[in-house]
Amino acid sequence: MPIFANPGTDGAVMNFEQRYDNWIGGQWTPPVKGQYFENPSPITGKTFCEVARSTAEDIDLALDAAHKAAPAWGKTAVAERSLILLKIADRIEENLTQIAVAESWDNGKAVRETLAADIPLAVDHFRYFAGALRAQEGSLSQVDEDTVAYHFHEPLGVVGQIIPWNFPILMAVWKLAPALAAGNAVVLKPAEQTPASILYLISLIGDLLPDGVLNIVNGFGVEAGKPLASSNRIRKIAFTGETTTGRLIMQYASENIIPVTLELGGKSPNIFFADVMASDDGFRDRALEGFTMFALNQGEVCTCPSRALIQESIYDEFIDLAVKRTEAIKQGNPLDTDTMMGAQASNDQFEKITSYLSIGQEEGAKVLTGGEPLTLEGELAGGYYIKPTIFAGHNKMRIFQEEIFGPVLSVATFSDYADAMSIANDTLYGLGAGVWSRDGATAYRAGREIQAGRVWTNTYHDYPAHAAFGGYKASGIGRENHLMMLEHYQQTKNLLVGY
Ligand code: NAD
Repeated sequence: MPIFANPGTDGAVMNFEQRYDNWIGGQWTPPVKGQYFENPSPITGKTFCEVARSTAEDIDLALDAAHKAAPAWGKTAVAERSLILLKIADRIEENLTQIAVAESWDNGKAVRETLAADIPLAVDHFRYFAGALRAQEGSLSQVDEDTVAYHFHEPLGVVGQIIPWNFPILMAVWKLAPALAAGNAVVLKPAEQTPASILYLISLIGDLLPDGVLNIVNGFGVEAGKPLASSNRIRKIAFTGETTTGRLIMQYASENIIPVTLELGGKSPNIFFADVMASDDGFRDRALEGFTMFALNQGEVCTCPSRALIQESIYDEFIDLAVKRTEAIKQGNPLDTDTMMGAQASNDQFEKITSYLSIGQEEGAKVLTGGEPLTLEGELAGGYYIKPTIFAGHNKMRIFQEEIFGPVLSVATFSDYADAMSIANDTLYGLGAGVWSRDGATAYRAGREIQAGRVWTNTYHDYPAHAAFGGYKASGIGRENHLMMLEHYQQTKNLLVGY
């Protein structure tokens, strides 16, 4: 199967700039202090571009541009704003392969995923919010004979957005599409580990929006993220990242009394009831496929099924098949379309995951497969590869309670329905969960009882734009996707009219 050429080499499908500035007011703008940081590709571990290392001064410039642009953008006719979003979607679709390769190169993820899922989903999110905007209605109610209450949706004005590195483009689009649709001007800071694919995307779509409506400022968390999140010139901060950073974001926001949307960590249980093994049919296969999704995106998914709970009576038979299936996952160069699992997104993340491989063994968990990094040859020798790993243990272990954010699955057994619910809900987090049972009533009941914002039953990891997504407990505040996200980027004006 084709291996897409590395950017910058002969035959490349796209080219990266050697140096990326910030995108402010519709222009590439160098950082005020003139500093840049090196951005390596996880595929090889080698630097392939330099990116602006921004500070509070750059955030201020971007906020100036956003404030200048926001009033006109907020008043732009709904049909016109919607059409611009549709044009953005078309432009992304026309350049899908290039963007998908850029995303894989910057993040290390398998290009078959970016081609089939990440970038098509980004296209669909722009289209969804372009349509949602047209369908949104205000309301009117009669208070009494002489008084009427109107409710209007208004944009917030200028909003800040900060995103992580695991789905750089999709996380950006999840935030940008509803915020822009709602009529806001945006300042977005990408993760320092994966800025390049977003900047490449902006180089393709930047001209479609009025200057200053969309601004991208690069840099590190404390140097660039904090001045953005703590600015008194934004009317909302939307953040996706770790729960510990989310706490800080909420503190900053409290100073300015602005709303937050927080999409944070997870430790998602995936429950396999005994009836999944009832016959060797398509259902059993689907459940096994769901099991192996812990390695999807190299396990760097906030809803990654990181805890598998298997009913005791089927454990031996099920785990035997599940381990075989896991060992069939093809690892290698993410730019090869046959590769199912690529590189971890950064060296820091690689080290964090390998430390948990040791922690699991130290606390007595049994390695059923994997348990170590994978060394590849040639150009890939410096990349960050880890074998998909399954640990068997119990829910009190750190590997069951702490977010590893890598291809590491912790497996335990349960006796009956009540036991499964008690283990599943014994976690700080409440983002994603999965239930597998042929019995519709069991699947429904468990789906309602698990304390998580998204429970997949008899399927896993679909992210349609029209399904609300977000966390219970320490996994966050607010929802993304769905019509309700438009309202999270709006404020309500009530006009009480006496006649
Ligand atoms: P992170 O919290 O370290 O960083 C996220 C972003 O915050 C980065 O852009 C970073 O520069 C910035 N940042 C860091 N410190 C900051 C500060 N003090 N002020 C302002 N900004 C700051 O998270 P990460 O390691 O990039 O991402 C992984 C995490 O994201 C995991 O916990 C994962 O579960 C979570 N995640 C959640 C969802 C969801 O939808 N719930 C989706 C994807 C990832």
